[in-house]
Amino acid sequence: MSRKTLIIGAGGVGNVVAFKCAMNADVFGEITLASRTVSKCDEIAQNVKAKVGVAIQTKQLDADNVDEMIAYFKELQPNIVINVALPYQDLTIMDACSACGIDYLDTANYEHPDTAKFEYKEQWARDGQFKEADIMGLLGSGFDPGATNIFCAYAQKHYFDEIYTIDILDCNAGDHGYPFATNFNPEINLREVSAKGRYWENGEWVETEPMEIMQVWDYPEVGPKDSYLLYHEEMESLVKHIKGLKRIRFFMTFGQSYLTHMKCLENVGMLGIEEVEHNGCKIVPIQFLKTLLPDPASLGPRTKGKTNIGIYAKGIKDGQEKSVYIYQVKDHEECYAEVMSQGVSYTTGVPAMIGAKLMLEGIWSGKGVFNMEQLDPDPFMEELNKQGLPWEVIEDYKPQ
Ligand code: NDP
Repeated sequence: MSRKTLIIGAGGVGNVVAFKCAMNADVFGEITLASRTVSKCDEIAQNVKAKVGVAIQTKQLDADNVDEMIAYFKELQPNIVINVALPYQDLTIMDACSACGIDYLDTANYEHPDTAKFEYKEQWARDGQFKEADIMGLLGSGFDPGATNIFCAYAQKHYFDEIYTIDILDCNAGDHGYPFATNFNPEINLREVSAKGRYWENGEWVETEPMEIMQVWDYPEVGPKDSYLLYHEEMESLVKHIKGLKRIRFFMTFGQSYLTHMKCLENVGMLGIEEVEHNGCKIVPIQFLKTLLPDPASLGPRTKGKTNIGIYAKGIKDGQEKSVYIYQVKDHEECYAEVMSQGVSYTTGVPAMIGAKLMLEGIWSGKGVFNMEQLDPDPFMEELNKQGLPWEVIEDYKPQ
């Protein structure tokens, strides 16, 4: 019987996953793209057919509705569900997968629509349910989380006896020409960057004000950029799984114009996640803002420049202190030429496809719920090189 793959979510990332699965159709078999708005699935399917020559099926599906998903999963019987809808749907899709005995993968940890918390607690709590259903759940198989967790696991496996510190360094030097836009779902993106910062040191989380800590990092092929400390979800699992770790931090680059826009929106209440009354209707300010901002999927044809995302680890090998910088550089225009998406969706969608490919091929297997760094990094690193995200390793990096 040939394999079946179900992708849920037809946004920027869903578009890349659909393209890349179609480009690896020998592994993914019959591909279906399901989402809330089926016309978006149909448009992606048409583009995939025109550019890759592979037909994919489409389906209207409400991923907030567990019963609807269970009925559909039983009918379709996919081998894997790739969840690239929003983090709000993680738990409902996980529950439908465990009810039907289908492997699961996502790219972002669960968030409750009413509280901006970023934590794995509720997904990890489904480990027993996944074991009982004899299925695998792979959490956070995007770029960060995702490839960054794998870079840490690769550094641990090949370069260190113990890693003491890790900085995850995320630079998007792309320019889309709009005064203000976000590169992926605006609601998720703005909730993340307007939250308090947090890093982990000597066994404890240290909280900072939003954007309180800044360092300039010299990103290869991009140059020096202001990089701000944020909380980011992969740190929660990495502190559990990286041996000897004493500190882990996450930095992301922002230009002054982005920060000024964001501060202004925040000051006037437009980033609020609570309902407010407006002319007799109830609206959530950040959702209304999403309606006004450019659709991230529309940034593809106009974004120029590069992304550079990596990890800088310091630790000890054979009694000697050393450091390793592992990073990946991607050009936005190259991404658009290949799959009609900008680099942020591309660098998320390709690792999602790779994680699913390794699961379908049985190269990565297990029962229960896993974070990326718990799996062997080598096959994933090989696939990154083959599937459009080649990486570099520099030992004892000295910025130019
Ligand atoms: P988009 O907002 O562009 O797309 C989300 C898609 O999910 C839309 O097609 C939307 O439907 C669909 N959707 C939303 N709710 C439902 C529902 N209840 N049922 C069915 N479909 C639904 O987001 P992105 O593509 O930018 O991001 C997708 C995911 O990737 C997010 O979880 C995001 O956090 C994650 N991400 C991860 C990164 C990483 O490196 N790990 C980086 C960037 C993103 P509709 O079209 O009707 O709105």
